[in-house]
Amino acid sequence: MLNLDIRTVLLSYTLCNLICAVVTLSLWRQNRSRFGGLGLCMTNFILNFVGILLLSLRGIISDFLSILVGNTLLAAGTLFLFMGLSVFLQRKFNQIHNFILLGIYIGLQTWYVYGNPDLQIRTILFSTLIVIYIGQMVWMLFTIEDPFIRVFVRELRIISIFYVLLGIARIIYAIFVPMGNDFLKTGIFEPYIFLGFQVIYISTTFYFFLMVNKRLVHKLEMDIQDFKTLESALKVSQEKFLKAFVNSPDPMLITKMEDGFILDANEAFVRLVGHNRNEVLGSTTVKLGIWADPGERINVMKHIDSFGRLREYEFVGINKNGQKLNLVYSGETININNEKCLISILQDVTSQKNNERLLNLRLELWEYSASHSIIDLMTRALDMIEELTSSKISFFHVIVDEKNMEHQAWSTRTKNIFCKMQNESMHRNLDEAGVWADSVRQEKSIVHNDFKSLKSKKGYPEGHTEIIREMTVPIFYKNKIEAVIGVGNKETEYTKKDVELIENVSNMVWTIIRQKQADDRILQLNEKLESLAMTDELTKIANRRAFFIKGAEEIIRARRYHLPLSVIMLDIDRFKLINDTLGHDSGDYTLQVVAAILLEGVREVDSVGRLGGEEFGVLLPNTKIEDAMKLAERLRISIAENDDLKTKLKMNITASFGVAEYQLQIKNLDELLKNADTAMYKAKNTGRNRVEFFTIELS
Ligand code: GH3
Ligand code: MG
Ligand code: MG
Repeated sequence: MLNLDIRTVLLSYTLCNLICAVVTLSLWRQNRSRFGGLGLCMTNFILNFVGILLLSLRGIISDFLSILVGNTLLAAGTLFLFMGLSVFLQRKFNQIHNFILLGIYIGLQTWYVYGNPDLQIRTILFSTLIVIYIGQMVWMLFTIEDPFIRVFVRELRIISIFYVLLGIARIIYAIFVPMGNDFLKTGIFEPYIFLGFQVIYISTTFYFFLMVNKRLVHKLEMDIQDFKTLESALKVSQEKFLKAFVNSPDPMLITKMEDGFILDANEAFVRLVGHNRNEVLGSTTVKLGIWADPGERINVMKHIDSFGRLREYEFVGINKNGQKLNLVYSGETININNEKCLISILQDVTSQKNNERLLNLRLELWEYSASHSIIDLMTRALDMIEELTSSKISFFHVIVDEKNMEHQAWSTRTKNIFCKMQNESMHRNLDEAGVWADSVRQEKSIVHNDFKSLKSKKGYPEGHTEIIREMTVPIFYKNKIEAVIGVGNKETEYTKKDVELIENVSNMVWTIIRQKQADDRILQLNEKLESLAMTDELTKIANRRAFFIKGAEEIIRARRYHLPLSVIMLDIDRFKLINDTLGHDSGDYTLQVVAAILLEGVREVDSVGRLGGEEFGVLLPNTKIEDAMKLAERLRISIAENDDLKTKLKMNITASFGVAEYQLQIKNLDELLKNADTAMYKAKNTGRNRVEFFTIELS
């Protein structure tokens, strides 16, 4: 066996350690941010280098440095390697006992250097400590559960077993082979043991390097995998977005924030604005004239600029046909190729808004109809219809038959601004009328967007508004055309939608007008009924019921305000005789004339009524009995001397009068009339054709 020099072996070991330290240092520098524990491992390699260096300088430097410090550095380095690996491999280990062991070792070693110098025990102590540390490490490396990490440490496991075995071999050797006290002359095996450690140490470094690399490669592979997953997820989400964008039923567009340049727009948007795709792309929403108020776009952009998004902003838009649209805008900024862009989505709520408007319109018209005439109602409806269709003129005719119209109404604007005709009936009769009446003759809605080019037009009467385009809609009720509504001179062409809208509105308006007509008729009938119930059919003056209602009111008034109130009752004398000799008709005639004489002879505030048969009553508010007597007398003479009666009947017609005044003790009209009746009875009894007044004595 070759006799190797231990110092030479140690020096070469030192150099190897230096290289190992440098390698692990660079490994640490490269990977410290990726993996934990590399710093501790690297510290081991540096401590080992220094430790072995100090060891190799035994005899040249002090024993303190060479033995105490050198061995302590080697032991601590091994512990650091164990700690570093446990961190790197993500295995938690409580290391307190190892530090305690290190402390004990330092204490014992000091004793066996200075107190009782013994190289053999020192060698056993050192090797035992290393075997304990590396043994734990082996146990740790063999109990790793993570299959990936297990792959990294396969070689390191084997090398650490060798490390432990060599340590044990050294202990056995130290126990059984006396080694003296000179470290540099410990027999021929010691250098070989150190050579073994050197080989193991270099292998450890190599496999440590390999382990870190494997882990790095694995991490890279994982990262690439993650990236691929991410990329495909991104692709999927991009595709999803694209599909959503293209197929969204709501109009969507992507624009540049800076100038509103439209980068992309979906089908729904193209449909909404009415321009074709090529016109839309590359244009701007302002150029396309979508904003009814372009200033509004500036405000919207300002908001998005400050908040990054805008949700559910309602505005009025205009499509290519000039149709007003109620739109709800939502938008959010996105970055496309480092340029600030805007993704926007619109909702077309025009029909909802129109329904809302129609509902309001209906309510308003109902309310309006309560206090306005039919013509006013028609005018109001036309004003609303004009606004709904952006028209400038409109008319509304009610059809009576093939020839005639009943009402002719025009919107306020048509009448005030456009039509210069003076007479009320501004349209010709239905059978003479031109284009507009076609919708009645053909029984359908008719649109003429280019009025000038029409051959069937007859030219308008003097002062008629110039017509550019018009739309007329007949209104049906029970399969019969009852009315027709026409609008005209919208800025842009009338569309199907306009027709639908007007058909809807017209029917609604007509329902209200019909109801109004029915209401008016009922009102008239009621009035008639009322008056029938209150008037006497023959004489057309108040009947008994009406007279009593009025009388009751007057009595209340007289009582409350302490005003005088008188009543006259009269009965035609020998009326039976008139009937019997001249006939019933002459009797009726007499009644009519007497009623007329009474009406004629009293003041406005007085009330005349037929109480029954040939008996009449006159209520005289605010009249004392003396004045009532005077009036009764005048009436008596008017009857007795009436020329009509005299000439027609050739008979003296007279009446007997009774007058009474309201007194506080009188409770009601019945009592007052009874008094008058008593007085009249006296007049009858005292010769007829007289006036008598009531006194207590009479009753
Ligand atoms: P006196 O002077 O006492 O009042 O005698 P008179 O004939 O007027 O008496 P009486 O009151 O009995 O007669 C009333 C008659 O009036 C009886 C009835 O046939 C008649 N009469 C009642 N209502 C009408 C009516 O509406 N038209 C006509 N032509 N006659 C009527
Ligand atoms: Mg009579
Ligand atoms: Mg009578």
